[in-house]
Amino acid sequence: MASPRKRRVLSVASECAPLLKTGGLADVVGALPAALKPLGWKSRVLMPAYPAVISRIGRTRRVWHTDDLFGGPATVRRCTADGLHLMVLDAPHLFDRPGGPYSVDGHDHADNHLRFAALSWAAARIAVEGTGDGWRPDLVHAHDWQAGLVPSYLKYAGSPVPSVMTVHNIAFQGIFGPDQLDSVRLPSWDFVPDALEYHGLVSSLKAGLVHASRVTTVSRTYAEELATPEFGFGLEGVIAARRDRGELHGIVNGIDDAVWDPAADPHTLPFSADEPAGKRAARDALLAEFGLAAPSGPLAVVVTRLTHQKGVDLLLEALPGFIEAGGAVAVLGSGESGYENALGDLAARFPSAVGVRIGYDEPLSHRMYAGADLVLVPSRFEPCGLTQLYGLRYGALPLVASTGGLRDTVADATAERLAADTATGFAFADIGAAGLADALARAVSLYADAAAWQRVRNRAMRTDSSWSASAQAYASLFAELVGPLR
Ligand code: ADP
Repeated sequence: MASPRKRRVLSVASECAPLLKTGGLADVVGALPAALKPLGWKSRVLMPAYPAVISRIGRTRRVWHTDDLFGGPATVRRCTADGLHLMVLDAPHLFDRPGGPYSVDGHDHADNHLRFAALSWAAARIAVEGTGDGWRPDLVHAHDWQAGLVPSYLKYAGSPVPSVMTVHNIAFQGIFGPDQLDSVRLPSWDFVPDALEYHGLVSSLKAGLVHASRVTTVSRTYAEELATPEFGFGLEGVIAARRDRGELHGIVNGIDDAVWDPAADPHTLPFSADEPAGKRAARDALLAEFGLAAPSGPLAVVVTRLTHQKGVDLLLEALPGFIEAGGAVAVLGSGESGYENALGDLAARFPSAVGVRIGYDEPLSHRMYAGADLVLVPSRFEPCGLTQLYGLRYGALPLVASTGGLRDTVADATAERLAADTATGFAFADIGAAGLADALARAVSLYADAAAWQRVRNRAMRTDSSWSASAQAYASLFAELVGPLR
């Protein structure tokens, strides 16, 4: 009997690891295709052909073209890169420019709404018409606001192709003025509060939340939080409506356990839960790399965007106490200049206990998880968070604020969990500098008991954070929407 044909999903996003990454979104978009494949879903990822992406891909094949995509010609080119089936949207007037994917020299591109509406438009056309190489998706998976208009364009085209809108971070919404509706080919008749309108403006993300067949977000707790004013950033009503209809799903992110494998990571010395000795050498190497003295307490790392969301101000307040208690910390991040400068000041104040690297450095991030005893994630909100998952796998115990996906993935070292050998890290519910300081103090005292620390580390390293269960949840949802094969 012939095996059933694989279903096809078009995944649409503004970034995809390892080609271009500014955060967890890229990791997820890059890892899901391989996790979905054994479950009967073949993916193509559609992303912009930024200069950095063009320089990484080899031969391409033109599969779609239009003479006018919001002000210039655009071509979708197909290629494979890093094991991924990619389609890149080559539209030089929108994407061939210096800087990162969203900004240059710290300033957002003024036409971001247009750039990503163009990405969404191309995705919807491909879903409707198919590509020149005879490929058409059974379903479209839209990630974050940059793909938020895909479900709307599908709807206005009368397309039956179902769509799933995944919220990786609701704080970013792609808002623009209604005077732009024409230029992004959206109908003014649907500029109403139940559809495109958001307080007199257009919200790309809201459009996706309203028009997608289903909405997902990246952890169960964040799904609950999103329906509240504290976390919903004004979209809590839309979210709650989808939830009440049973159309909101919290599916926690996994990690690409081939890329993030301490036993076979080209960036670090090998170690594993069974062979933890290499971790000691990785720690020594990390201390040397940051020019730090060996601390009597734990070595903590922070790998993050330096923003208010990530609680950098809380770290600045709580870290001096941690250092005085014997801890050391290495920070890798970039973001708001006030935080960059304040971290530099902290390193100047504690030169042998605090090391700071401002910038983005993927290999260094691997060495940091490998060498650390702790990874600190004091976020004010955190849809899923990946750094704590890398920490678990690399035996750097996560110390996290108890919110969103952090709450769902880290088991706080309470007395009960320590006794039952189920603790994997530290979590604090009182999200502020005092709560963080208290958790750091608990970590310092557990570290003093080497046997207890090793038990928790062993449990953390054996935690399954792979994609298997979550990819299954996506596949089941997709199958439900697509229905039986015709
Ligand atoms: P977010 O997507 O909100 O930034 P996540 O925890 O979901 O947060 O994902 C962050 C990802 O980006 C992780 O893979 C982390 O290792 C990586 N990362 C963040 N900052 C840096 C940096 N400065 N250098 C290297 N990797 C970084």
